[in-house]
Amino acid sequence: MDIEDLATRIEAGERRALARAITLVESGRADHRADATALLERLKDRPAQALRIGLSGTPGVGKSTFIEAFGLMLTGQGLRVAVLAVDPSSARSGGSILGDKTRMEHLSRDPNAFIRPSPAQSQLGGVARRTREAIDLCEAAGFHVVLVETVGVGQSETMVAEMADLFLLLLAPGGGDELQGVKRGIMEIADILLVNKADGDLRATATRTCADYAGALRLLRKRAQDPQGFPKAMTVSAVEHAGLDKAWSEMQALADWRREAGHFAARRADQARFWFEAEVREGLLARLKREPVRGAMATLGRQVAEGAITPTAAAEELLIQYLQLGLADRAP
Ligand code: GDP
Repeated sequence: MDIEDLATRIEAGERRALARAITLVESGRADHRADATALLERLKDRPAQALRIGLSGTPGVGKSTFIEAFGLMLTGQGLRVAVLAVDPSSARSGGSILGDKTRMEHLSRDPNAFIRPSPAQSQLGGVARRTREAIDLCEAAGFHVVLVETVGVGQSETMVAEMADLFLLLLAPGGGDELQGVKRGIMEIADILLVNKADGDLRATATRTCADYAGALRLLRKRAQDPQGFPKAMTVSAVEHAGLDKAWSEMQALADWRREAGHFAARRADQARFWFEAEVREGLLARLKREPVRGAMATLGRQVAEGAITPTAAAEELLIQYLQLGLADRAP
């Protein structure tokens, strides 16, 4: 594969080259992996940063309607917008909650937008790497905003938050039950809570729900790196396009504040370190599952199960064996 040619076309913002590169990073084949690594390394130094926005919400809350309207608003301002989806359900079952092609019909036809659905049946562990690398490729292709959408189930939102500069949580109008149902953890990682469907009969409920969330946010521990008023809750209507410009200016205000305070770069640096360690962990585990240590892994696993050796001692033993055997093993 001509990595240099692909890289040049990505830097020129060619969507087809970008799509091809994402297919490459999604592939599990060893030669593709080597090409993907070389490509990402080649594209590492970029003239500009994208604003990476994570967006989570349960199915039906209006994520695709919101992204379509929000994305079109941004492209209307001359910005280039990429949308990536992380769908843990497709990794588990092959069925997908996100990412079918009929969603975001208008945005997908917009020449300033790029939409990439979640790959079907990818390995769950591979989802993080694929998404992270796809974000990098979109940034290299000069997109101003990269939206990473995920369903509010499982661990996916924590993972997306580890790749995003800002994190949004889309919520439905509802009573106290709804408030209880939102996991505390996700409220803690969100920068802006958007109560959607604030229109028609639902408007009053949405306003009330928003006030409830705002109250709940005030009870959370304030994050030292955030300016006054954040995290905050606001109402929007994706169908009526209401509140979207306000939400965008809040996102920009927060991003600007963090940039000026140095938190923006610091957060990306922390994230890079976090993913480096995750890659080491996963790479090591993958190697331990291959010959020549695989046999020792199985044997020690059996001994642990039988109570013949403690898990700690067995792990220590395996790592020693690996270090003695495995240093020459450089294959990915
Ligand atoms: P997703 O599963 O989170 O992507 O949700 P969708 O975007 O597919 O929306 C689910 C349903 O909610 C659809 O019937 C939408 O028309 C509706 N919906 C989305 N946004 C709004 C909104 O702002 N107001 C109202 N009233 N309905 C909305």
